[in-house]
Amino acid sequence: MKGATFQGVEKVSVVDVAKPSIHGADEVLIKVTLSAVCGSDLHAYHGRIPMAAGELLGHEFVGVVEEAGSGVKRFKPGDRVVASFYIACGHCTLCRKGWFNECENLATFGFGRVLGGLGGGQAEYIVVPMADQSMEPIPAGMTDEQAIFVGDILATGMFAAERAEIKPGDAVAVVGAGPVGLMATMCAQLFGPAHVFAIDMVDSRLEIAQELGGTPINSSRVNAIEAVEDQTGGIGADSSIEAVGVPSSIDTAMRCVRGGGTISMVGVPSELNGDFPYYMFWEKSLTFRCGRCNVQRYMRPLLDLIAAGRLHPEKIISHRMKLDDAEEAYRMFAAREATKIVLTP
Ligand code: NAD
Ligand code: ZN
Ligand code: ZN
Repeated sequence: MKGATFQGVEKVSVVDVAKPSIHGADEVLIKVTLSAVCGSDLHAYHGRIPMAAGELLGHEFVGVVEEAGSGVKRFKPGDRVVASFYIACGHCTLCRKGWFNECENLATFGFGRVLGGLGGGQAEYIVVPMADQSMEPIPAGMTDEQAIFVGDILATGMFAAERAEIKPGDAVAVVGAGPVGLMATMCAQLFGPAHVFAIDMVDSRLEIAQELGGTPINSSRVNAIEAVEDQTGGIGADSSIEAVGVPSSIDTAMRCVRGGGTISMVGVPSELNGDFPYYMFWEKSLTFRCGRCNVQRYMRPLLDLIAAGRLHPEKIISHRMKLDDAEEAYRMFAAREATKIVLTP
């Protein structure tokens, strides 16, 4: 089968690899019908996650079950499914407490051996272990493009928004208008804020944020913290959502909120350590939350929200390309020439 593989820093190529097959009773084989390139793939692309040459990429995918192991209860061949970007066992202590993102047996798709040794979804086929705990059926009538982001960026936007503790009438600042920030901009509105500010430097992304109900702030032209203060009576946002992961965006997210506010960070930190302004947090009674999204908790309700017409995640797709063109798709996405790219095998 064909699959997009990491071949070295900023080198992706589509090559022929062995078609995977199921081994465990809890596994399913999926024929992939759509995959996507994610901002997290860029961490591997730029060499920040140490993958080996030839390992398969991709963790956002939907498809059709081709074969199911004998222990799989919720899925059968022919079912259309969306998978979480990681697998969780469902029976360890933290899964039982609902923290699937902290599962003791967690492994992530598409980052090679270093993040769990699973296959990649930017391919024709993929095996999903722990399938009953890691996938949801796609409702009849819902397209692949509507469903695919439930397994990663839409769930992350919802996780971020819920943890930002948004109250009706609040002002929320979303730092970063990449795919994750755009999903957070969309999800934040489910909680009834008066304002959702979207902060980024890329006008094409800010335009989409505006279409999704955000108020754009281009931080390459204005001071974002002052712009948020100006539009909140000098006070600052009630909460912020950090959707980038670099020191400057984390700093903006921490400094644009008012006293008593909450910062909810989902961007993967680009640095292992950094300065944390303890005194400012004490002085302003701030709350800081962060983490990998608890995808398994959100997939079902998000599919219901999409089916009900309350969320339109497919609106952020800017480019539809073939899997064969994955090399170009990575180049374009890394250069921010595309907001979100989906690939068909
Ligand atoms: P992306 O790289 O496409 O988007 C990042 C955006 O941030 C870009 O539009 C960029 O212009 C903007 N930006 C960069 N520096 C900025 C700054 N200082 N201030 C404001 N904006 C700035 O990536 P994405 O797909 O949107 O993902 C964003 C982050 O979320 C990545 O780190 C990704 O790995 C992470 N992520 C986390 C989870 C999770 O579970 N927590 C899940 C998915 C993705
Ligand atoms: Zn992702
Ligand atoms: Zn577990």
